[in-house]
Amino acid sequence: MRFNVEAIRKDFPILSQKVNGKQLVYLDNGATSQKPQQVIDAIANYYKELNANVHRGVHTLSQLATDAFEEGRAKIQQHINAKESYEVILTSGTTHSINIVANGFSNMLKDGDEILISALEHHSNIVPWQMLCERTGATLKVIPMNLEGELVMDDFDSLLNSNTKIVAVNHVSNALGTINPIRYMIAEAHKVGAAVLIDGAQSVAHIKPDMQELDCDFYTFSAHKICGPTGTGVLYGKEEWLNKLIPFQGGGEMIKEVTFEKTTYADLPYKFEAGTPNIAGVIGFGAAIDYLNAIGMNAIAQQEEEILKYATAELLKIPELKIWGTSKEKVSVISFNVGNLHPYDIGTILDNSGIAVRTGHHCAQPIMNFCEIPGTVRASFSFYNTIEEVDLLVKGIVKAQKMLN
Ligand SMILES: *Cc1c(COP(=O)(O)O)cnc(C)c1O
Repeated sequence: MRFNVEAIRKDFPILSQKVNGKQLVYLDNGATSQKPQQVIDAIANYYKELNANVHRGVHTLSQLATDAFEEGRAKIQQHINAKESYEVILTSGTTHSINIVANGFSNMLKDGDEILISALEHHSNIVPWQMLCERTGATLKVIPMNLEGELVMDDFDSLLNSNTKIVAVNHVSNALGTINPIRYMIAEAHKVGAAVLIDGAQSVAHIKPDMQELDCDFYTFSAHKICGPTGTGVLYGKEEWLNKLIPFQGGGEMIKEVTFEKTTYADLPYKFEAGTPNIAGVIGFGAAIDYLNAIGMNAIAQQEEEILKYATAELLKIPELKIWGTSKEKVSVISFNVGNLHPYDIGTILDNSGIAVRTGHHCAQPIMNFCEIPGTVRASFSFYNTIEEVDLLVKGIVKAQKMLN
């Protein structure tokens, strides 16, 4: 069946809006995706029909809410092929998930241990590790990148050693779209006994990750980048590792028994889920996964690949436009600059035409420093974007170029 983008767009109420008097062209999917009616309905229906706290009441509503919440977890488990549902920890998002892991290692590291991250990381996969290093005396090492926006694997090989305790890299770079060779990196890291965390925040919208096949120790992502609501996300962890980590937050839900002398922690996954969770969010998360699977992740990847090819070719026709991130393996994210024009100025003129792009450092300042640029304009495409929207983007950039030169 042919991918019917017009039918799909009808599922997203926001896409028919006008912005600044112009039809909205939403090309900031790397920051957050739009939400289909199915997800909005799932959240609204929870509040209309099921609202109650989970895991505590004997009353009917509480049990129904608990079932719906746990069904959300089960959908996530199936989607990422995690072995056990309790290996899926529900968090507020990728940032929260990475912080749980970085904090969890606090009493497992010492002076001389090393944590290996990469030059392509989002700040949320840099700062928690720096904080962990400060607490423990461990050292942060960084796998360098090249000017194509790829990680240098020779350097990865030589940085990896028996002191490496954690390797934390993203699956896909949010700033440049590069797909990193994580299968190789996971296998090599395991040879030296390091735990591997993959930040999947930017990949799950494009690639369905398989936990058992990837064999990573942790995988993190946020619902809001895959058509789900904000404020909810996942920390997948292998059971053996999750059992070793100390809990991040204390409170209700995460305990077995509390006395003033000593508290024992609940079993997985609740040990990492202190407090009332984002019940509506998790239900919406499950609805988003159902939505994506009804279209099919392969169909989505194909459609985005077509848009990426077309947009790359059309953008490169613009004089002085330079694309940052030219890895052969990349998703539908295009970061670029036009001559010496400031990304912010281009973004502002595009916005006047109803076109939403991201400008700046994309929470990845080290990449911008390496490329010696203040930032880029980033157009990040989703399966609901069209060829016509790419044409409008190109027209908008040419217009900006004329106005600013
Ligand atoms: C968006 C993003 C994050 C942060 O996700 P939050 O939802 O803001 O916590 C981390 N890493 C990458 C690669 C991202 O794209």
